Amino acid sequence: MRTLADLLRRNAALHARRPALMNEGRNWTHAEHLARMRRLRAALAAKGVRPGDRVGVLSQNRAEMLEAYGAAELGGFILVPLNWRLAAPELAAIVADAGPAALLFEDGYAAAVAALPARPSLLVSIGAVQPGAVDYEALLAGAEEGEDPASAPEDPAFIIYTSGTTGTPKGAVLAQGAMLHSARAIACEAGLRPTDRVLVTMPLFHVGAKIEWLSVQYMGGSCVLLPRFDPEAVFRAIEEERATAAHLAPVMVKTLVEHPAREHHDLSSLKRIHYGSAPVPVRELRRAVAAFGPIFHQLYGMTEHVASSILLPFQQELDAPEGSGEAARLASAGQPYHGTELRIVDDAGDDAEEGEVLLRSPGAMSGYWRNPAQTEAAFTPGGWLRTGDIGRIDADGYLHLLDRKKDVIVSGGENVHSREVEEACLSHAGVAECAVIGVPDERWGEAVMAYVVLCPTAALDAAGLIEHVRARIASYKKPRHVEFVPHLPRLPHGKVDKKALRRAHWPETGKRII
Ligand code: ATP
Ligand code: MG
Repeated sequence: MRTLADLLRRNAALHARRPALMNEGRNWTHAEHLARMRRLRAALAAKGVRPGDRVGVLSQNRAEMLEAYGAAELGGFILVPLNWRLAAPELAAIVADAGPAALLFEDGYAAAVAALPARPSLLVSIGAVQPGAVDYEALLAGAEEGEDPASAPEDPAFIIYTSGTTGTPKGAVLAQGAMLHSARAIACEAGLRPTDRVLVTMPLFHVGAKIEWLSVQYMGGSCVLLPRFDPEAVFRAIEEERATAAHLAPVMVKTLVEHPAREHHDLSSLKRIHYGSAPVPVRELRRAVAAFGPIFHQLYGMTEHVASSILLPFQQELDAPEGSGEAARLASAGQPYHGTELRIVDDAGDDAEEGEVLLRSPGAMSGYWRNPAQTEAAFTPGGWLRTGDIGRIDADGYLHLLDRKKDVIVSGGENVHSREVEEACLSHAGVAECAVIGVPDERWGEAVMAYVVLCPTAALDAAGLIEHVRARIASYKKPRHVEFVPHLPRLPHGKVDKKALRRAHWPETGKRII
């Protein structure tokens, strides 16, 4: 099994009658799933889509989206999942960058497609039939399965655009073999089984959702696909479909922990919750474990290198005395995956105790789509991926992420990691959420500023919070400005949008916005 296409064929043979996919009351076995993907592949090929052509998909999570992924894997097309939360100009820019030969879209996005300045000639609508587009089911009905063309590990399978946390989203090209490697790494490290049934509620345009399904698919398991995140639907799906695993963004974990409906559902089937994509304060993690049990696996990764490191169940760490090295692991991103090399380097590129995290494995992206300059900048000459994250490795080999390189605040010549200040603020019981940025300061260059969401009943003012932080970290790291806000601006996957926060303080053209 060397490619994603091989995986689909293996599952249809080895796990033919086992469930593959459940979506809004519809079910398919692995054999049925492959048959539909093959018909879609053949139908697209008959319409002139060739290996190497891009196929865009603009849809909330639904079975057809996974079928499109599969058709691309079988046919050598490059699937480009599009973020339906983007504004019209952002979507237009990505479609222009990817240049798809075909665009599949859910009926609800017909207006967004019609508004695109440049559209591919082949439009396929999913759901209600749309004018100017071929109907998805009619397309499948008219197609025979046919023979799959040959596939190779180096064939590009997807272009997935990064979250855009630090700038314009970049199209990471992920090859068949690289994704299969990442799926295998997660399946093995997390101990997935063919009986695993993963709940996918993160948007499938995000690499995390796709890889979560791929890693379960790797073992012949099944997927319960929800259109989008809705806490009550999540609880119902776990209970009714007996889901064993789920992949959630930290903000989703927090929502589920706090939701009153949690108590009224039987969630005992759930054996693993994978979380990642943004830092998780230790306090939140402890609350989550109290609510769901010690079933959390932290994944650290990125669109460009999906399976980077993992933190496995940690009863031992939970029981360890506060302040001990073992307890500190709760704040870490774990150990590199099997098959991943990890280094920390300073600005000169030399190995260092603290610095940028570099990664190397067969799971890395091939490069950024049509962007040789950014691709070159992303890798060292030795083939290590520069993650843009700052970290350190402790004596036991655990990776601690300190900040994003672009979020580090330089105040009076000292580096302040925004995450450290956020953790210090969050250690106050009255603080519900917090984001720390650097703002212009005549004397210090940059000053630390905290945006804070208070818990509903908290009585805390700026001076009280600064005092609290001051008692925990060095004085130069304490916030000089505090603003209390009702909520933090967030990107589609729930990450805090620090660019939006910085925009209020820095000139739009200034390098500090990104
Ligand atoms: P862009 O690259 O466009 O600025 P992005 O980096 O947010 O956006 P993604 O590829 O979706 O795009 O996210 C990867 C980043 O998310 C990592 O580089 C890291 O900063 C952060 N991240 C991922 N997992 C974790 C984790 N477990 N803990 C802390 N941060 C994480
Ligand atoms: Mg990134």
